[in-house]
Amino acid sequence: MWIYLNDRFVPQEEAVVSVFDHGFLYGDGVYETMRSYQGRTLQLSEHLARLERSASRIHLDLPLSLVRLAELIRESLVRNRLQDAYLRVTVSRGAGEIGLEPSLCKTPTLVIIAKPFQPSPESLYTEGVTVSVVRTRRNLPEAVPPQIKSLNFLNNILAKIEATAAGAHEGIMLNQREELTEGTTSNLFLVQAGRLRTPSLDCGILDGITRGLVLRLAEELTIPTEETRLGVKDLYRAEECFLTNTRQELLPVTGVDGHRLGDGRPGTLTRRLHALFRARLDRFLDSA
Ligand code: PMP
Repeated sequence: MWIYLNDRFVPQEEAVVSVFDHGFLYGDGVYETMRSYQGRTLQLSEHLARLERSASRIHLDLPLSLVRLAELIRESLVRNRLQDAYLRVTVSRGAGEIGLEPSLCKTPTLVIIAKPFQPSPESLYTEGVTVSVVRTRRNLPEAVPPQIKSLNFLNNILAKIEATAAGAHEGIMLNQREELTEGTTSNLFLVQAGRLRTPSLDCGILDGITRGLVLRLAEELTIPTEETRLGVKDLYRAEECFLTNTRQELLPVTGVDGHRLGDGRPGTLTRRLHALFRARLDRFLDSA
């Protein structure tokens, strides 16, 4: 496997980063996870724009232009002969003396990993998954804004540990106002009285790229959508529920905290939206 590291492609074994890298020492950096279908990356410019927003929020200048990054992502797919791939772009503050001051690091570290995509078992889509509302709260937007897709992932990791201990596929975090936010690596959608409802960005969530696509597709189907504040009761009483992320697209949720959600089967609207997502995918793939 060829990895892009800083300024060139290197074999996987040579793709190593300094122990003084502030990404390693402090989680000081940002990243994006992407997916390609038949050699074309989904929402490539949207992902790169989010990478730039994340970087700018931590006062980090990306080492390359977005155009160049897009070229390198395409090249990563070609070099590794990949069609359906998982892609990860990481930009850390770089190597520097120990200390928090970003100016200690002269050059950011850039890594692009492209590896074969491992699809989730089909049963997750046909049976649905379970979620658990965890005690770990989502980071306060005034502390570590969830809109920054940062290397500092402990908030989500703690929530994931709780979810796994509860036997759930995903953990749903609340914010300080006891409102639903998102999963550890996914956004949350509910169907209530025929409306598609999802926590609004001001609840303190990542502005998921898949979330954005689902809202667009729902509008095309003239399904009423609402970005709003939701509580645990909304989740418990929802007719349908699903999670979204780049890797898993739309994932139906059929159980919450040991109870059945809706009728315990993937919902009709969930399945309809997922089918439309797949049917319209071509529109959202990189065309360069
Ligand atoms: N929320 C969090 C915390 C995530 O890590 C992810 C995965 N990137 C998502 C939501 C879903 O975002 P996307 O649809 O852009 O993959």
